Amino acid sequence: MIDHRRLGRELDLFVSDPLAGAGLPIWLPAGAAARHAVEEYVRELERRAGYRHVYSPPLGKRELFELSGHLGYFADDMFPPLRLSADDEFVLRPALCPHHALVYRARGRSYRELPLRVAELGGMYRAERSGVLGGLSRVRAISLNDAHNFCALDQVGAEVREVLGLIRQAHAALGVRSAGFRLSLRGPGEKYVGDDAQWARAEDLLRAALDGVQFTEAPGEAAFYGPKIDVQILDAAGRESTIATVQLDFDKPERFDLSYTDSDGARRRPVMVHRSLVGSMERLFAYLIEVHQGAFPAWYAPVQLVVLPVDAGQADAAEELAHRALDAGLRVEVDHAGSLGARVRDATRRKVPYVGVVGAREAADGSVALRLRDGRGPDPLPVADALRLIGRVVAERSADLLPAG
Ligand SMILES: [Zn+2]
Repeated sequence: MIDHRRLGRELDLFVSDPLAGAGLPIWLPAGAAARHAVEEYVRELERRAGYRHVYSPPLGKRELFELSGHLGYFADDMFPPLRLSADDEFVLRPALCPHHALVYRARGRSYRELPLRVAELGGMYRAERSGVLGGLSRVRAISLNDAHNFCALDQVGAEVREVLGLIRQAHAALGVRSAGFRLSLRGPGEKYVGDDAQWARAEDLLRAALDGVQFTEAPGEAAFYGPKIDVQILDAAGRESTIATVQLDFDKPERFDLSYTDSDGARRRPVMVHRSLVGSMERLFAYLIEVHQGAFPAWYAPVQLVVLPVDAGQADAAEELAHRALDAGLRVEVDHAGSLGARVRDATRRKVPYVGVVGAREAADGSVALRLRDGRGPDPLPVADALRLIGRVVAERSADLLPAG
């Protein structure tokens, strides 16, 4: 049984300290380096797809979350408000949508700006009971890859299809194993906002966006404000769970009185598409650690190259190689301490994708002997060629440690 908590400890990725609180893990340097690489990748993918990134605070006035409906429909999952004085209360946000509605509302909007895609990797909080918390998979402080795409009604279908394409692309790069799409619909009960016509229309739009795609249906799994497409994945044990979502919302644009000026001069209401490509960094890494058994693809491995001088005579050559790797944008370390065998074993234990051994011959002719994590070891290469090889694998976000072709 692969457990991300055990691997997280062995690989120094994160720590859960009872003094910090249950469900509030701390990312250690190795875990933070991997997460940073993934965050940069997702941000760049979004930038190229026309997203505009913002920053907003993880707490806001009580009135903001009354207006959004969260305090009415979602309070059980939220921390109690923080009171500064009788008429000044703050809420740790359970979602980013209210702040992004304010981004939209910051000034008048024209139809020419739509779809307006507001993105943020932002903090939010859920008051999970301590019994269900564990490692990174269920936490109270969540870092969500989130965006809200404000569209005209006739843009929704194309927008949702484009989001599904981005999800496929991101999941392929990360090595996420897809288990298909799920259309999550309203169930019985009164925990839903909006009227039947809105729900029917949103459902029709999502069905149209899924045209030609295989999906299952899940009544009762919708968000309180609208139906959604869940992107299902298989974990290392073959269990299915949701990692990314695309949700349609007619309700928040009403509540926040969002509008744009259309080409005929009329004032119209946009539709809000809530979407996440990879979900929260916590859930994502709980999954990635297990599915890769800690051996991440080279592009987000915490350390990509460990340089090992065979003995003290090659210390300078090893440092020089590490410097060049650093300049080339790689995450690199030099390990001098102990026997060569022990150092190779340590790099293997840490699942470092590349080990660069520098012996007397390599130091003399400016080369390095690469050993790959999977046991392969090409012939010694000139340092520049070795760095180019690793750089190519990283740039291509390849799962293989040698470049194709
Ligand atoms: Zn949202």
